Amino acid sequence: MAKLSSRITSITSGGSDGWEVFYRARTMIAAGEDVTELTIGEHDVRTDDSILDAMHHSARGGHTGYALVPGVQALRQAVADRIQTRTGVPTGPENVMITPGGQSALFSAHMAVCAPGDTALFVDPYYATYPGTIRATSATPVSIQTRASDAFLPSAKEITKAAQTHNARSLLINSPNNPTGSVYPRENLEAIAQACVENDLWLISDEVYDTQIWQGEHISPRALPGMSDRTLVVGSLSKSHAMTGSRIGWIVGPKDAIQCLIDLATSTTYGVPGYIQDASLFALQQGDALEEKVAAPFRRRRALILDVLAEQNTVTAIPANGAMYTMLDIRATGLSGFDFAQALLTEHKIAVMPGESFGTSAAGHIRVALTVDDAKLSVSVRTLCQFAQKLAQDRTHAS
Ligand code: PMP
Repeated sequence: MAKLSSRITSITSGGSDGWEVFYRARTMIAAGEDVTELTIGEHDVRTDDSILDAMHHSARGGHTGYALVPGVQALRQAVADRIQTRTGVPTGPENVMITPGGQSALFSAHMAVCAPGDTALFVDPYYATYPGTIRATSATPVSIQTRASDAFLPSAKEITKAAQTHNARSLLINSPNNPTGSVYPRENLEAIAQACVENDLWLISDEVYDTQIWQGEHISPRALPGMSDRTLVVGSLSKSHAMTGSRIGWIVGPKDAIQCLIDLATSTTYGVPGYIQDASLFALQQGDALEEKVAAPFRRRRALILDVLAEQNTVTAIPANGAMYTMLDIRATGLSGFDFAQALLTEHKIAVMPGESFGTSAAGHIRVALTVDDAKLSVSVRTLCQFAQKLAQDRTHAS
């Protein structure tokens, strides 16, 4: 084979990708074993029938040709209205481009603000695709480390330090956060915004979990002073409407940036299928009720997990104020998140993600996805805690 570009061969950094537990669980399931999977963020319900009906209706009505590249006007308008209502920032369709999912929006946003070789900052622990997405744009990813004791919130001081050291162009944040479940509070976002202004950084704000808030409020940093001209918001219907497979999302930002992003879409995706966009418009028109219906099981299960954790004191939770995950601290066992997850899978056939899969800041933690039914989740987390307790006791006796 002729040589491939260094850009594409370096998207993943090679070596262990931290997903061994996940793949092992999948192999066990394929071999017929009864494994409880608390690994990935996929809802345990499918897209609502009413949305599928709208999709069918649109496709049968003929909306199967090329759709407008930036998105159909009515959907751009609906996204703009939704954002303006929720944030107060004046937003029109010219501020919105429809994308095939939040993932494509993340890539496009970095393409828009980083030239090859520029540094793009992101926060560790991070959603698994982040560094690869940045490398795919030929920018250089540099992580900002965080600490469990700060609920994994990034410090403005460290952002400034990294921005100055690397002459960075952008910062990517994600609240509510995957994998930690943290919701960035206002003071933290204000400090981050100030660091962006002072260091002339673009802020790429991944808000795909904005409808999954269990405590506190979702604040979009685009609404903070001085930020609407330097923020690109990434949104999606994947999580809010259980539409992961429909690949539908958006970027919201300054009109001139959106114009350039439309040029990028014209030469890459050439838009999103019209019937998916029509179904998405229908979904948004249903308002909060449908979003709450999709979010409700996660709200309930997060409370369930906290109840189970209250029965013991070996495993503790990072305040999981949003998103469909809870990050648990298992350092009392003396094991790494990776070794704990492997042992839990071997002993109890429960699969969770090691914190180390998401960078280095969440070492000694595991992420539990709230994506199985309530009873199964309670039993699994109780088993997990008992397993951790036993490991912690064995460790005390051994020392
Ligand atoms: N950002 C985060 C933090 C995510 O967890 C995900 C999906 N798991 C995405 C973006 C991408 O979502 P999608 O492309 O399905 O909209």
